[in-house]
Parts: sequence; C-alpha cells; structure tokens
Amino acid sequence: MNGSLAIVGLGPGRSEYTTPAASAAIAAATDVIGYGPYLDRIAIVDPRQVRHATGNRVETDRARHALELAAAGRRVAVVSSGDPGVFAMAAAVFEAVESGAPAWRELDIRVEPGVTALLAAAAEAGAPLGCDFCAISLSDNLKSWATIMRRLEAAAAGDFVIAIYNPASRARPHRLGEALDLLRARKSPATIVVLVRAAGSGEAARITTTLKDVDARSADMRTLVLIGSSATRLIARDGRAPWVYTPRREGDGS
Ligand code: SAH
Repeated sequence: MNGSLAIVGLGPGRSEYTTPAASAAIAAATDVIGYGPYLDRIAIVDPRQVRHATGNRVETDRARHALELAAAGRRVAVVSSGDPGVFAMAAAVFEAVESGAPAWRELDIRVEPGVTALLAAAAEAGAPLGCDFCAISLSDNLKSWATIMRRLEAAAAGDFVIAIYNPASRARPHRLGEALDLLRARKSPATIVVLVRAAGSGEAARITTTLKDVDARSADMRTLVLIGSSATRLIARDGRAPWVYTPRREGDGS
C-alpha cells in the first residue's frame, strides 16, 4: 500500500461549505488526524477509519505523527477548520517535512483548500473585500507582539481592508483592544468595523459598527474582525443589518 497525506480544510462550519474534494479526501483516508471538535464535524462513513483526536496546541506533533503514518503506508487526512493553509496545519506539515526525514519529501502530499473564515465573514456582511485587503493573526504564540503591531501599522498606512484572525484568547484578553488603539491613532474614527462570530456555521452573528465605537470585548475566539479601508461603506436597509461593501474603483466612496 502506498501512503499519502491530504491536508484538508473543512470550511467554516456548515457541512455544505466543505468542498466535495475535501469530503472525498477524508472518505478515502484510513486515518484522520485533527483537533477533537473538528473530527466531531466529520460523519463516520467507514467504522474501520482510525481517528486521532489531538489538542489544539500540538500542531507540530500532529504534523510529524501524520507524516510517520503516511510513511508507514497509511492514507492519512489531517483536518483544519476553514482553509488548512491559513494560520493552520498545512504550514505545520511543510515545516516538519523540511526539517524531518528525507523520505518524507517523496511522500504523496496534497492540500485540499477550504472556505476560510475571512471569506465566510465577508459574505455575511456583503462585499467588504471588494478591493485590496490583508489578513493578520493577533496570535503571538509563534511571532512577537512587536511584529504584529508593526504589520497592523503598515496595513493602516496602506489603507487595506484588514481581516483580523485570532482576535482574542484566554492568555491575552487585551490584545484586540491594543490593536484597535493602534488603528484608532491612524485611521478615521468613522472607519467601518464588522465583527462576525461563527461565520458560515448556521449560527452566524454580525456586529456592524465603527472604529470609534467598537468594543473589543465583543470578539471571542470564534470571531473574525474586519476593519474597513477609507472607501468601505454601508448600504442602510429598513429593519435589517446594513450591507457593507468596498467599491472596486479607486475614488468611489472614499
Ligand atoms: N484555518 C482557519 C483559521 C484558523 S485561526 C480558517 O482558514 O478559517 C482561528 C481563527 O479563525 C479564530 O480565532 C477566528 O478569528 C477565525 N475563525 C475561524 N472560524 C471562524 C468562523 N466560523 N467565524 C469567524 N471567525 C472564524
């Protein structure tokens, strides 16, 4: 038997948002590895399939384990929520390949993309990513807080729409507040801010506000925060949340 490793994105929550290619890669696997709550989202089709549930913080160990199983001839799927290449397992696997056994480079490894949180969150709001945007994670597990602040500063200077992943954690509850203070010092107080919790999961909740009024405590670990560019604007609707969009053409709306 030839081993293989699929690094699979499950999408943001609803099973309809898992691609058919991702589902097929999981169905074909002898072994599925991932954070326990993500494994719970996958229907068991074949009871012989082995499920390896791990904690959320052990990505490097999980990546090596997946590679060892694949090298031993198993068909392995490693799952992430959203897209596996966005702040998730795909890079952890390639880090392990680069520093690991030479034989791992010969393995059949492929990445199955998924709908990342920023796309699901943007779709809840309208079209906030209609012009240039960037994504920044506020997690300082693997990079310094100084680097994060420097990148936020550069994103503000470039007038990008900024998607903030990992806005909150138990270890650092004030990090979104600090990030917003930095942005308030550099952008208009009227800048549109959207917080989407559990985007694309069927339980999505959206807050649409401004940089002046946003309360950092409204974000938790399942929230994606979108900070508008100077052109991002609202379309008001009676009794319903406004649409949020960023015009494609420079000069429109700014
Ligand atoms: N690989 C994932 C991101 C992992 S980082 C992806 O591509 O979506 C984890 C962060 O992603 C969370 O702290 C949150 O900011 C964001 N996130 C993940 N799923 C989300 C969802 N359904 N709604 C809003 N934000 C989400």
